[in-house]
Amino acid sequence: MLSSSKSHGILPSNRVGMSRDQNAETRLLKQRLTDFMEEARNNERKLRRFQALELKLVSLNSILELIDVLLNPDPSTVSWDQVSLLLFDPEYEVQRMFQDEGAKLEERPALMFASSMEEMEQFYSASLFPSLGSYRSSKHARLFKHSRKKPSSVVLLPLVRYGRLIGSLNIGSFNADKFVRGVRTDFLEHFAAVVAICVENGMNLERLKRQGLTDTLTGINNRRFFDQRLTEEVEGAGRSGKPLSCMLLDVDFFKRVNDTYGHQVGDLVLREVAAIIRAQLRGSDVLSRYGGEEFSALLANTSIDVAEEVAERIRRGVEECVFDVPDFEPFNITISIGVATLKAEANTSLDKKSGDVLIGQADRVLYDAKANGRNQVTCAPESCQLGA
Ligand code: GH3
Ligand code: MG
Ligand code: MG
Repeated sequence: MLSSSKSHGILPSNRVGMSRDQNAETRLLKQRLTDFMEEARNNERKLRRFQALELKLVSLNSILELIDVLLNPDPSTVSWDQVSLLLFDPEYEVQRMFQDEGAKLEERPALMFASSMEEMEQFYSASLFPSLGSYRSSKHARLFKHSRKKPSSVVLLPLVRYGRLIGSLNIGSFNADKFVRGVRTDFLEHFAAVVAICVENGMNLERLKRQGLTDTLTGINNRRFFDQRLTEEVEGAGRSGKPLSCMLLDVDFFKRVNDTYGHQVGDLVLREVAAIIRAQLRGSDVLSRYGGEEFSALLANTSIDVAEEVAERIRRGVEECVFDVPDFEPFNITISIGVATLKAEANTSLDKKSGDVLIGQADRVLYDAKANGRNQVTCAPESCQLGA
C-alpha cells in the first residue's frame, strides 16, 4: 500500500512535472513557430517590395529615368530615409549624357561621380561586399553631403559588373539600429546586383542610341539628332518666349580641297572645322553635321546679334586655321554662315513647322553669303516673328 501509495504519490507528481515541462516546451515551440512565421511573412513582404522596385527599374528605358527612380524610390516599396548614388565615370560619359539630354546635374545633388578608381576604393578598400554601420562623417560625408540632416546608420552597396566596381548605392537611415553589422543583407545584395545590371544596360542603350545619332567622321551629332532637337528647342522657345538662333555653316569650295589634296585631307579638314565651331559654342548649344561639308547649330536663348558675333568668331577661326599636311604647301580654307532667329511671344504653341521655317531662313541667307563672295556671315533681315 505504502509503496503503492508512494509510487502512486510519485507517479502523478512526476507526470505533472513532465507535463509542465512539456507545456513550457510546447509554448516555446509555438512561440518560435509564430516568430518564424512572422519573420517569413515579413521577409515575403520585404521581398515583394524589393521585387516591385526591381521590376520598375528593369522596365525603365533610359539611364536618366533609372537614376531618378533610384534616388527617389517610392516610399511604399522601401523605407529609406536617404539615398545617394556614386557612379564611376572616368571619361565623363554619364555627365555628358545628362548635359546632352538637357537634364540638370545641379538638380540631382544625390548623384555623384568619381573620376578615378582610387576615389571609389576609399569606400570599398577591403571587399566588394555591402558595408553597414553607424554614419561616420570622415568616411560618409561625401556620400550624404546633399542632406542637411545626417543619417544615423548607413549601408553602402557596391555596384559590380564582371568583378569591376561601377558605382555605389548609398542608403542612410535616421534609425541607428537599421543598418548595423550582423543585419541580413541578402535582399540588399540582390537589389544591388539588379541595379548594377540596370545601370550597365542603361549605359549600353544610351551608347547605342548615340551611335545612331553621332557622325562617325567628326564625332559631333548627325542630322537625325539635329532634327529631333530642333523640334524640342522650337517648342521650348515658344514656351519661354526667348529667342532661338540657328546657324547653317558651309565650307567654301570644299570640292577643291578634295580635288587638290585628296579626300583623306578633306576628312581631316572637316574634323578640324567641326572642332573650331564646337569651341565657340556653349555646351548646351546643339551642333551637328547637317550633311557633307555643311554644319548646323542651334543656340537657345540667344538673340540674332549675339548669334552673329558667335558666327563671326567661327568664321575668323576657320579662316585663321592653317592646314599643314605632308607633301603640300600649308593652306587655308574659309566658311560661309547664314544666321536666323526665331522669336515668339511666351506661351506660344510652336511645332516642327516653325523649325522648318527657321532652317529655311538660315539656308536662304547662307545662299546670299555664297552669292556675295563667300567667307562671310549673313543674318536674316529680321527675326521671324512666329506665332506672335
Ligand atoms: P561652295 O563654296 O559653293 O559650298 O562649294 P563646295 O565645293 O564646298 O560645294 P559642293 O557642294 O560643290 O561640294 C561639296 C563637296 O564636299 C563634294 C563632296 O565630295 C564633298 N564631301 C562631302 N562629304 C564629304 C566627306 O565626308 N569627306 C570628304 N572628304 N568630302 C566630302
Ligand atoms: Mg561648300
Ligand atoms: Mg554644301
